[in-house]
Amino acid sequence: MTQIYNFSAGPAVLPKEVLAQAAAEMLDWHGSGMSVMEMSHRGPEFMSIYKAAERDLRELLAVPDNYKILFMQGGGLSQNALIPLNLVGHKPEGATIDFIHTGSWSDKSIKEARKYANVNVAASSTTAVPAQAGWKLTPGAAYLHMCTNETIGGIEYQPDFSDPRLQDVLLVADMSSHILSREIDVAKYGVIFAGAQKNIGPAGVTIVIIRDDLLGKALPICPSAFDFKLVAENESMYNTPPTYGIYIAGLVFQWLKRQGGVAEMSRRAQAKADLLYAALDANDFYETRVAKSSRSRMNVPFYLKDESKNEAFLAGAKARGLLQLKGHKSVGGMRASIYNAMPIEGVQALVDYLNEFAAQAAK
Ligand SMILES: *Cc1c(COP(=O)(O)O)cnc(C)c1O
Repeated sequence: MTQIYNFSAGPAVLPKEVLAQAAAEMLDWHGSGMSVMEMSHRGPEFMSIYKAAERDLRELLAVPDNYKILFMQGGGLSQNALIPLNLVGHKPEGATIDFIHTGSWSDKSIKEARKYANVNVAASSTTAVPAQAGWKLTPGAAYLHMCTNETIGGIEYQPDFSDPRLQDVLLVADMSSHILSREIDVAKYGVIFAGAQKNIGPAGVTIVIIRDDLLGKALPICPSAFDFKLVAENESMYNTPPTYGIYIAGLVFQWLKRQGGVAEMSRRAQAKADLLYAALDANDFYETRVAKSSRSRMNVPFYLKDESKNEAFLAGAKARGLLQLKGHKSVGGMRASIYNAMPIEGVQALVDYLNEFAAQAAK
C-alpha cells in the first residue's frame, strides 16, 4: 500500500497504532472471547473499558473533580439544543443566551438556541476573532456560547480570562475540532463539548464536560436520555452508550498519553501549522483569508488564486496519496485538516506538493 495522508475535516484520520490494535482485538478482546461490539455495556469487561477511557480523558485535560465527563450520542450539533434544554432552566423565564459568532458552526448554534431562549449575538466576525473588548455581553445572561475552533472557516481562539467581565459568565464552548490539541483550564468553563470524529475517535460519541452544580436544571421537556443529570448519575449508561466508539476513543486517549499528552500535541500542532502556513504565505500562487492572529492550527483553509486549477490540484494531490483536501462546499477552495493523528511527515508531503504544483503551473 502506498503511503496515504488523510486531510479530512471529519470523520478524520486516526492514529495507525490505534487502528492496528482495534483490528488485533476485533474478534477477541483480552481473552473475553467477544468483540467489544458484542459486550453488555454493564458487564465487567466493558465497564473496565469505560472507566479507563473516562480516567484517561480526565488526566489528559486535567479535568477537576467537580466536573463530570459524559459520553453521549447525538453529535456536536445535538448539543446546540441539549445545552439550552439543560441550562436555561437555571435562569428565570425570558433568559438570554449570548453568542460569539465566528463562522458556520456558531451560526448553527445560534439558530438552534433561538428555539429555546432569547439570543444576543455579542460579537460577530468570520475572518478574525472579534476583539474581546468589544463583546456586548448581556448582564445576567444564562450563558455565553463560543465555538473555539471554527472547522470550516479556520478560526481558532481562547478567551482572554484576564477580562473581569468573564468572571461571572457561565461559559459554554464547542471544542469539537480542537479538543486535546492544546492545554485548557477546564475550571474556566461551565460546559465543554466535542463530537468525537475530529480529534478523538469515530463518529457517534459526543464528549460533554460539565461542572456538577449545573446538573439538575433541565427543562421538563428535555428528553430523559439527554438530561445531563440522569446521564451523569448513570455514568453515561442511562441508555446504551455508543460502546465501540467509546472503546476506540479510549485507545486514542492511551495513545495520546504515550505520545506525551496534550502539551506534546500542542507543540506538534504548532510545528505542523507553522510549516503549512509558512508554505502558503511564501507562495503567491495560494491565498489564505483568515487574519494571521486567528488562524486555526487544526483546519487550514486555502485557495488557489487561479481557481480554474482546482480540479487539477486535487487530482494531483490524490495521485500522491494526499486525500480529502477539497474545501467545504459552502466556502470552496481547499482545506487541510491537520489533527493530532496527522504526522508532520504528512504536512511536509503536502508542503512539497504545494510548492511543486505552483512551480509547475508557473511554467
Ligand atoms: C463537526 C462539528 C460539529 C458537528 O458535529 P456533528 O457530530 O456532525 O453533529 C459541531 N461543531 C463543530 C465545531 C464541528 O467541527
